[in-house]
Amino acid sequence: MSLPGFVDNRALCYNAGVMTKAVRVCKALDERYGKKRWDGYEPILDCLVWTVLSQNTSASNCNEAFARLRERFCSWQEVKDAAWQDIADAIRPGGLANLKAPRIKNILEQVKRDTGKLDLDWIADLPAQQARDYLEGFDGVGRKTAACVLMFGLGKPVMPVDTHVHRISKRLGLIGDVAPDAAHDILQRIVPPERIYSCHVNMVVHGREVCGAARPRCEECNLTIECDYFAERFADTTETR
Ligand code: SF4
Repeated sequence: MSLPGFVDNRALCYNAGVMTKAVRVCKALDERYGKKRWDGYEPILDCLVWTVLSQNTSASNCNEAFARLRERFCSWQEVKDAAWQDIADAIRPGGLANLKAPRIKNILEQVKRDTGKLDLDWIADLPAQQARDYLEGFDGVGRKTAACVLMFGLGKPVMPVDTHVHRISKRLGLIGDVAPDAAHDILQRIVPPERIYSCHVNMVVHGREVCGAARPRCEECNLTIECDYFAERFADTTETR
């Protein structure tokens, strides 16, 4: 407990230590997979719809659903005015079509109500926190979806925490045993803004290729020295010898 008026040095030391570790992890991932740079602006409304479609499915299914949606309807106005069942037919390859179609329609209706047009590019001028709050106001848009839109669509330093980022950050001991929403806040604090994009993209690759959920391939990993999970596993191995 820290007393009023006193700085809690233990918390400061912990934060400084974990921030330094986060930078080392980012550098190691960049060395292994290459430093990733945000490659350009996308219309934010397109990005938001794509990200809603990407929920609980693969990127290829999502791309197919998005392409079919754009083929079937000539504009976001047409999508907004369509019956949700017709939207669902178009996006069927993306999965959960009966859930995502009403969400997309609701988003378009709300954007039109809020701004009088079907355009979200104006959120680029808002501070990241305010833009995130606005996006999270849409039904079906949580912390991860909002962060993906801001980072991929606008290049803002907002860290999305998907299942790979959450699992690896936990194993490395960057975030403790916390739920994904809390992980967003912690990683946002400890990863330097200029490293967030590359850190996210490379952690996802690392999660797919090396640090899988069921059986992490630690023997192939260049993060063992930073990893609490590896240290515990190694300790278990030596104890049972
Ligand atoms: S050492 Fe193992 S658990 Fe740790 S990050 Fe690498 S693969 Fe994942």
